[in-house]
Amino acid sequence: MSLIVQKYGGTSVGTVERIEAVAEKVKTAHAEGDRMVVVVSAMSGETDRLLGLARKIRKQVDGRELDVLLSTGEQVTIALLAMALEARGVPARSYTGGQVRILTDEAYNKARILEIDGTNVRADLDAGRVVVVAGFQGVDGAGNITTLGRGGSDTTAVAMAAALDADECQIYTDVDGVYTTDPRIVHDARRLDRITYEEMLEMASLGAKVLQIRSVEFASKYKVSLRVLSSFEDGPGTLITSEENIMEAALISGVTLNRDEAKLTILGVPDRPGIASTILGPVAAANIEVDMIVQNVGADGSADFTFTVNRNDFEKAEGILKRIAGELKARAVEGDKKIAKISVVGVGMRSHAGIASRMFKALADENINIQMISTSEIKISVVVDEKYSELGVRTLHTEFGLAG
Ligand code: ADP
Ligand code: ASP
Ligand code: MG
Repeated sequence: MSLIVQKYGGTSVGTVERIEAVAEKVKTAHAEGDRMVVVVSAMSGETDRLLGLARKIRKQVDGRELDVLLSTGEQVTIALLAMALEARGVPARSYTGGQVRILTDEAYNKARILEIDGTNVRADLDAGRVVVVAGFQGVDGAGNITTLGRGGSDTTAVAMAAALDADECQIYTDVDGVYTTDPRIVHDARRLDRITYEEMLEMASLGAKVLQIRSVEFASKYKVSLRVLSSFEDGPGTLITSEENIMEAALISGVTLNRDEAKLTILGVPDRPGIASTILGPVAAANIEVDMIVQNVGADGSADFTFTVNRNDFEKAEGILKRIAGELKARAVEGDKKIAKISVVGVGMRSHAGIASRMFKALADENINIQMISTSEIKISVVVDEKYSELGVRTLHTEFGLAG
């Protein structure tokens, strides 16, 4: 008898009718003899609605009470799904994160899972029940409710699969797999049969929101066999797996777009040792994550220093930079929120030279100016003007032969 963890995202449980359709799918798998743990998200739009309520009270909301609020969305769907299963004669029991005892650290709003106690869940599975678990939430050591960051139900599912040593973790969503790029942007994007953990991790980090980054980290670490599938139609989906399970690596597996970053430049700072840490030290101390960094030295010997941060941190970072600019007698601070980061990802890059130059030429042929570049072993990212986002993605998708 195999143990399967299934996860259904917001759209898949967006209405009572859809929850009933999920119950039918679970009933079928259960009838075939699988032991089933089902993780659900809140109904689509619910987490945003709750956030909106909180923001009416305080513009900048975070911390403990936000997690008490946001975790209610998933508590609704676990109860409704368990009821829908019971109504179909399938024994089921719902669990909040705290009831499972998904133990996390204390970082409210972006907690990390430390440990899962599967004792109660296992007892229910042994008794033939379907276990329905609230995604996105846990408890810290003191029993406070925590949440795992947006999209966190994926991570709950993979962590449950790892803790219970499940045979497969199936992520049911509103697309029928992982595509070469976001199918909502490029219509001839192609579904991938398989993709490596490493590539999926890069794609998730670079903007493909189909899986939360941490869920892929978990899957890779614990070698969970992870599959992305459609809630609405049958099909093989996409298997996320180790490189040795993929016969022939594609040169490029995917193209991603990230519009969540903003760029800051401090102009005319002295070009001397320690300058990068003088600028970035206070930014890091304010808990602002810096992504891409470029430094240019001009003819006059002074340097311009540019970096990107998440758009939500833009104002905060700009304030810090203006203060530093005063101290360093820099010429000016410039900011730009209208940027996009486009990346190509593929393990095949390791053994092939010339990908970067092909990428830059294809963008140049469309008259798209590259503002920043960064590379790793299996990815190349560029920052361009936001207005070229979609053209840039489509151009690279075609250039690397990814179209279906
Ligand atoms: P869920 O609510 O089920 O968790 P999400 O909205 O979080 O669903 O993730 C699914 C969405 O991810 C798709 O609707 C699609 O627009 C988007 N997406 C972005 N990049 C990709 C990609 N490379 N492959 C598939 N989907 C992608
Ligand atoms: N409901 C949460 C969110 O909207 C978690 C999830 O859907 O995975 O981010
Ligand atoms: Mg999601």
